[in-house]
Amino acid sequence: MEIRAEEITKVLKQQLAGFSAATDTAEIGTVLSVGDGIARIHGLTNCMAGELLDLPHGVRGMALNLEEDSVGAVLLGDYTLIREGDEVRRTSRIMSIPVGPELVGRVVNAIGEPIDGKGAIPTKLFGEVEVIAPGVVDRQPVREPLETGIKAIDAMVNIGRGQRELLIGDRQTGKTAVAIDTIINQKGKGVICIYVAIGQKRSTVAQVVKTLEDFGAMDHTIVVAATASDPAPFLYIAPYSGTAMGEYFRDHGQHALCVYDDLSKHAAAYREISLILRRPPGREAYPGDVFYLHSRLLERASKLSSKKGDGSLTAIPIIETQAGDISAYIPTNVISITDGQIFLEADLFNSGIRPAINVGNSVSRVGGSAQVKAMKSVAGRLRLDLAQYRELAAFAMFASDLDKSTQATLARGQRMTEFLKQDQYSPLSMEKQVIGMYAGINGFLDAYAVGDVRRYERELHAHLDARHPGLLKEISEKKELTKELTEQVKAVLAQFADIFQAKA
Ligand code: ATP
Ligand code: MG
Repeated sequence: MEIRAEEITKVLKQQLAGFSAATDTAEIGTVLSVGDGIARIHGLTNCMAGELLDLPHGVRGMALNLEEDSVGAVLLGDYTLIREGDEVRRTSRIMSIPVGPELVGRVVNAIGEPIDGKGAIPTKLFGEVEVIAPGVVDRQPVREPLETGIKAIDAMVNIGRGQRELLIGDRQTGKTAVAIDTIINQKGKGVICIYVAIGQKRSTVAQVVKTLEDFGAMDHTIVVAATASDPAPFLYIAPYSGTAMGEYFRDHGQHALCVYDDLSKHAAAYREISLILRRPPGREAYPGDVFYLHSRLLERASKLSSKKGDGSLTAIPIIETQAGDISAYIPTNVISITDGQIFLEADLFNSGIRPAINVGNSVSRVGGSAQVKAMKSVAGRLRLDLAQYRELAAFAMFASDLDKSTQATLARGQRMTEFLKQDQYSPLSMEKQVIGMYAGINGFLDAYAVGDVRRYERELHAHLDARHPGLLKEISEKKELTKELTEQVKAVLAQFADIFQAKA
């Protein structure tokens, strides 16, 4: 075989023609300065907003500020190891975290790494932390209930799957308690819950995890924890990570619920990051896009259309107020983003009305269409009755003798207020709520002292379980109080009135 010189040069020329200098300097940058979990990086000309960056020592960054000659990035990992002059590589990927059913039952940090000591999580998929929310065409109206098991909520401010309902109140008013009870109540209902703890103490998060375990609720729950001891970037990213995990289930035709506890601390962490990034501060030192921070997060909660598989992602953000001021900056922002709010009040909480829901200020703007018929028919009047009662109660304190109808309204209101109290960790099924509520609204409680109301309810439930499981089952299946069922309920209540021993 003979190889001629010109053949060699031809091959060489061909190869050289296909060669281009692949060392793109735009893909590698250097750290200009670092501190407080933020790095300024020079030389990443093509970097995208939200892009994941690789730094030494396994630290990762997320590009937030794209400026003319530098990039501002938050660092996820041990940023104390990063030095000025360190090399930074682009990944050309938007920041993503592991998602999938393998995460259920686990406790992870803000970037999806396990922190419960139960070993690695064999997830196969990644989800981007920032995605654009589904558009109107891909959605359908909220139509199935998300039962919280809390009487006052399911009756008057009921939530639907795919809705965004805000839980708002001062510190220590039972906000977390409502969220945890809701998660516990999803047991066996096919809703995967994601509890995102933002800026809480580690011990508090551990307590929540333990409670969920004790009530068997970890089997359908993922806990995402960015605690007060984590750097601000983790707090910033945690709710988006939790949402990405929820979206996996939503997009696979399942139902998910995300609780963000709480977004006040999230806003504060974002303010911290923004100030270090030297973004201009606006009202209350929050950066101008703090509204967008929460709106693009909550916008991702949705009920998908049948074409998209009918899945849903419900969001329950929590906001802490100062001295009941729901008109402060962050509370008003989130109130306007969500489809309603449940307002918990310190005065009510301290006077023993727990859950401390202020019915007048609480509303659910879309949940009504998702309410179970049976509940709707029974509880429809409740809100009005209670409003009337509160109005009368305010001035009845000063009146000496009241006419009969006023007395009756007051008596009914007192009993219904008492009836709506509910202990922690004891969510109730829809059918039991309906029967109890029916008794209250139709005057079966009027004969007893206010102090007897809760015992009446407890004993009634025991009586129903023991003697009328068929009736409970029928209401739970039909989800409607038909004429016959109403007659049955009436008969059962009349029968129970003979058994129940009122304290003399
Ligand atoms: P923080 O502002 O500290 O997060 P929070 O508003 O989340 O507080 P929780 O921690 O849920 O409030 O509740 C405060 C206290 O009230 C807890 O000790 C809790 O056990 C108690 N509590 C909450 N709900 C009820 C209830 N329905 N019945 C009795 N106690 C309750
Ligand atoms: Mg709390």
